[in-house]
Amino acid sequence: ALMITDECINCDVCEPECPNGAIYQGEEIYEIDPNKCTECVGHFDEPQCQQVCPVDCIPLDPKREETKDQLMAKFLKLTGKA
Ligand code: SF4
Ligand code: SF4
Repeated sequence: ALMITDECINCDVCEPECPNGAIYQGEEIYEIDPNKCTECVGHFDEPQCQQVCPVDCIPLDPKREETKDQLMAKFLKLTGKA
């Protein structure tokens, strides 16, 4: 999963781009629900939020490192295909 750092300027452009609805407005900044973030696997070749973030504050979450297979399994579960 990806994560949003405290560099986030709350511009709101990433939230509507997420195909999994994983991004939401948290208490101070936008946040990503790691259980819903597939790093866009299953939907797109590249993480859509990273593509649009103007301040580049959406890195990989080091606490939630996942393989492509794990991300695909999450995608299948989220979409009811598994
Ligand atoms: Fe959503 Fe994709 Fe960003 Fe994960 S990488 S939060 S699935 S847009
Ligand atoms: Fe924050 Fe980047 Fe999302 Fe804008 S695009 S709300 S700066 S994480």
